[in-house]
Amino acid sequence: MNKSDIRHLNFEQIQDWVLDNQLSKYRAQQIYDWLWIKNIASFEEMTDIPKALREKLSENFEIKQIVSHHIQVSKDRTIKCAIRLFDKNIVESVLIPTQTRSTACVSSQVGCSLDCKFCATAQLKRKRNLDYQEIYQQVYFIKKLAYEKYHLPLTNIVYMGMGEPLLNYTNVMKSIEMITSPKGMGISPQRITVSTSGIAKMIVKMADQYVKFNLALSLHSAIEEKRKQIMSISESNHIDMLVNALNYFYEKTGNRPTLEYVMLYELNDRIEDANALINFCRKVKSKVNLIEYNPIDHVPFKKTTKERLNHFVQHLEKNKMIVTVRRSRGEDIDAACGQLANKNVLFSV
Ligand code: SAH
Repeated sequence: MNKSDIRHLNFEQIQDWVLDNQLSKYRAQQIYDWLWIKNIASFEEMTDIPKALREKLSENFEIKQIVSHHIQVSKDRTIKCAIRLFDKNIVESVLIPTQTRSTACVSSQVGCSLDCKFCATAQLKRKRNLDYQEIYQQVYFIKKLAYEKYHLPLTNIVYMGMGEPLLNYTNVMKSIEMITSPKGMGISPQRITVSTSGIAKMIVKMADQYVKFNLALSLHSAIEEKRKQIMSISESNHIDMLVNALNYFYEKTGNRPTLEYVMLYELNDRIEDANALINFCRKVKSKVNLIEYNPIDHVPFKKTTKERLNHFVQHLEKNKMIVTVRRSRGEDIDAACGQLANKNVLFSV
């Protein structure tokens, strides 16, 4: 018999099952807490539940759990984990500890269907979307790791791992609902950022749901033709569409979007590029994060130089823009932005 996945039942459905089986109502809460708050991997671990009930549960349901497949620790303490999913596909999740915060970077798809020219994940074909539990469990896993390795609480979550979160909209939203729920991990949505390559209609859809988490847009160039060259998603999502979508997002949610901008040598690091970015920011209330380019195999891009970066930043600041420069983390283990490509994973089914 094909058993159903018990975590696909919401609280009310578990309660119905409990009542249908003539059990006390409070058992539903116990079962639910084991599944979501304690994230157990088998019914045997539900120690305050009678054996007969545990057996009945396992006759009817299964529990699916992700498994750590391979772990690498960078000299800057960043940890990259290859995670084996329910069907044995592999994705990567990263723990990024700093002085002030510890961040989980999670994947939303196996591979990616987009082909951003500077991103290693783009070299892996998209195989499938992650189920919301697979996303939730990555966060749980990284949270536990942060505590076990560094005695740090998990403070932030970024959907910046493998895949395009807005092309797996339902599971991403459901995972955030569970991560933020007091019946799940109870993490504040203000500590969560979803990063998108820029799918205007999905940004609008998110705004219409009055989401409380943060949004980051991978802009990388505010010049239409240039952006098209490096991100083909912009063929159908023009800059003016993104401007409108981001403004709408800000209007509905009150959250100022972040613009991510990877500094590529002699490609988007000239003064004309800075001027286009300034112009973009005049139209959209936003914050700018300049990101160091992390080298990946088989592409012609180079990281900008220190001088060019400084010049770019100064020009933005002269124009009253607030800019943050994000240093690369975990580069020595291919864990930095855009480097996730299952490189050190021996097999992936
Ligand atoms: N698909 C989503 C999230 C994944 S990538 C998105 O596009 O936003 C997370 C961030 O890393 C994005 O801003 C992405 O453009 C950036 N990135 C990709 N490749 C990179 C590289 N080689 N160096 C630095 N940043 C990179």
